[in-house]
Amino acid sequence: MLNYDFRLDEVTRKIKEMDANAVGIQFPEGLKIHATWVAERIETETDAVVLISGDPCYGACDVSDTHMEGLVDLIVHFGHIEFPIDYKVPVLFIEAYSKLDVMNAVKNSLEALKNYKRIGLVTTIQHLNLIDQIKDFLVQNGKEVLMSEGSGTREGQVLGCNFSSIKNVDADAFLYVGSGNFHALGITLFSEKPVFIADPYMDEIRTIDEFRDRILRIRFAKIIKAEEAKKFGIIVSSKKGQFRLPLAKDLKRIINENGKEAFIIMLDNVSPDLLLPYMDLDAFVVTACPRVAIDDANMYKKPLLTPKELEIVLGIRKWEDYEIDEIEHM
Ligand code: SF4
Repeated sequence: MLNYDFRLDEVTRKIKEMDANAVGIQFPEGLKIHATWVAERIETETDAVVLISGDPCYGACDVSDTHMEGLVDLIVHFGHIEFPIDYKVPVLFIEAYSKLDVMNAVKNSLEALKNYKRIGLVTTIQHLNLIDQIKDFLVQNGKEVLMSEGSGTREGQVLGCNFSSIKNVDADAFLYVGSGNFHALGITLFSEKPVFIADPYMDEIRTIDEFRDRILRIRFAKIIKAEEAKKFGIIVSSKKGQFRLPLAKDLKRIINENGKEAFIIMLDNVSPDLLLPYMDLDAFVVTACPRVAIDDANMYKKPLLTPKELEIVLGIRKWEDYEIDEIEHM
């Protein structure tokens, strides 16, 4: 049985309405295993030919409209909600809500939350359809539940690069409902509050503290190493939702003002292999996805920094004022 709601009735209805001959479909990495099943359903129920985007995709920052322009009449992008970007092809966003029961994990979180009254509730788009149910449960169990919309995110939703929905949430602790450590790490780095993960996939409650401390130790080591750097590469992504060339130019100016050299390198996907020709550079600053430097740090031979970490390297910011890098999606 499928664990996600791909809303294929809505998808096929849209394709028929548009009389589309060719349709691109795109999935984030974790949902790609469903791509051929979805393609088969679309091709059976409509006259359209389906092109599956096989490139890596980690967010709505990365819709394959540029690659598929002129090839398809519509792109169906599963697993994310729309960023306010001008796309070159009409795009239908389908959230792909998970059908997994999250309530057992949420129930088990009450013990971990027993010393906290005001709970900031956050999740990803995959479980956002259950946020009111989770909120009601916590309220019934004596908690005050705080949630807010962000710029480009819905109430209670966080992205790996955007925490605006918790910016004004004055919680004693956060409850993140979802899998992995990726989002919870961002929440704790952004908020500096206790974060508990109610993980319905592992059916467990855990804190992020140990993982956060390990990551911060690694960040500190990368920053110290980069302080010796004389030549920097500044990475700009050509993905529309990650494209921050003005920031990259600004960083180049600041690096130069500090008596060091900097070169702007434009890439689509940032990967260790693609940086191999630039090993004459001592460190890299990533203006693409803010999580590349943090989450993929160990894959790279040279230190990768976020723009805010570069400020620490150059003495413009103190380590005590460490902040996670964000991309604002208005
Ligand atoms: S920029 Fe990174 S964290 Fe933000 S949506 Fe894209 S892949 Fe996710």
